[in-house]
Amino acid sequence: MVTTEAPTDTQPLGRAALAYASRGIPVLPCHWPTPQEFPQFCSCTDLDCPDPARHPIDGLTAEATHDLSQLSRWWLAHPSANLAITDTEHVGVIELRHFIRPEHVIRLLKAYEIERGPLINAALGRLQFLVRPDHATLGPNPPRPAEGATLTTLPPGTLVLLPPSRLMSGYRLGWLRRLYHATHLPAATPFLAQLTDFVATGALDDPHPLLAR
Ligand SMILES: [Zn+2]
Repeated sequence: MVTTEAPTDTQPLGRAALAYASRGIPVLPCHWPTPQEFPQFCSCTDLDCPDPARHPIDGLTAEATHDLSQLSRWWLAHPSANLAITDTEHVGVIELRHFIRPEHVIRLLKAYEIERGPLINAALGRLQFLVRPDHATLGPNPPRPAEGATLTTLPPGTLVLLPPSRLMSGYRLGWLRRLYHATHLPAATPFLAQLTDFVATGALDDPHPLLAR
């Protein structure tokens, strides 16, 4: 099955997996919250699961793939499976933890005319920017804490859930800015530098005069 549709927040997980692959993003299936209505357990059935609903499915490979037939088989067998990337060759992830309204970040990026890219609303106070990997995301990169904010590049190999995966809270990850294609991501280094500047100058806390209404 060939698909050219873009990944969305509302499509079935299996279709989303195919949509990511067709946009140059290899994915892999992960366990998911059960039961569907009021999640209480990780689908791995281990009541003490250390990483509920965000670890690869037992017995399957931990390798993400572009292979559409393989992805179809996986999600046919596990239609509720969350989906994730671990790939650092194609995609880097910069994470911002800050209780800022996501719309404010988007307005800031626009006001400063920064090359914008896909942005995931990963949880309350947790935004994830997808970027083109370079030394900023591939090298050692300790978290950069600042007052009220943490900015970090996720280390290579980190498993990152993608929309429309669900967390144990029942929250479903969503796109604040949609993914177009893996070849259309902003370069990591200047993007990280700009976000670091926003954190350091408090721009995340106080709307810039350019943004005042
Ligand atoms: Zn589990």
